[in-house]
Amino acid sequence: MAIRVLCVEDNPQNMRLVRKILFSAGYELLEAQDGTSGLAAIRAHKPDLVLMDVNLPDIDGLEVTKQIKADPSIAAIPVLALTANAMHGDRDRCLAAGCDGYVPKPITKTELLNTIAFFVKKSERNHA
Ligand code: MN
Repeated sequence: MAIRVLCVEDNPQNMRLVRKILFSAGYELLEAQDGTSGLAAIRAHKPDLVLMDVNLPDIDGLEVTKQIKADPSIAAIPVLALTANAMHGDRDRCLAAGCDGYVPKPITKTELLNTIAFFVKKSERNHA
């Protein structure tokens, strides 16, 4: 069965890029454009991994992540923050909010696929 990734991202160009990269690697992609629908999609579909934009039109991506990690039914799903600010303080904020890792923007194919593969394998090991 294909690995399912949910991307929560309000920028259509970034979403298009993520879609292209994930399809090329055989992942199944679920999409949400804001935090509220993202959280609902995570609860409804229990994806294998979540890509979370930090700046969303409604709830901040880090706040959505806190809510994911506070819900035992979905807390184990790896969340990777998509952050434009690759500064150290921003990375710390992501990890403090409960993100498992992060992918800096601009997104590159190699970095996105390597990071996703690492966390998918890690979570498979945890469930073995
Ligand atoms: Mn955004």
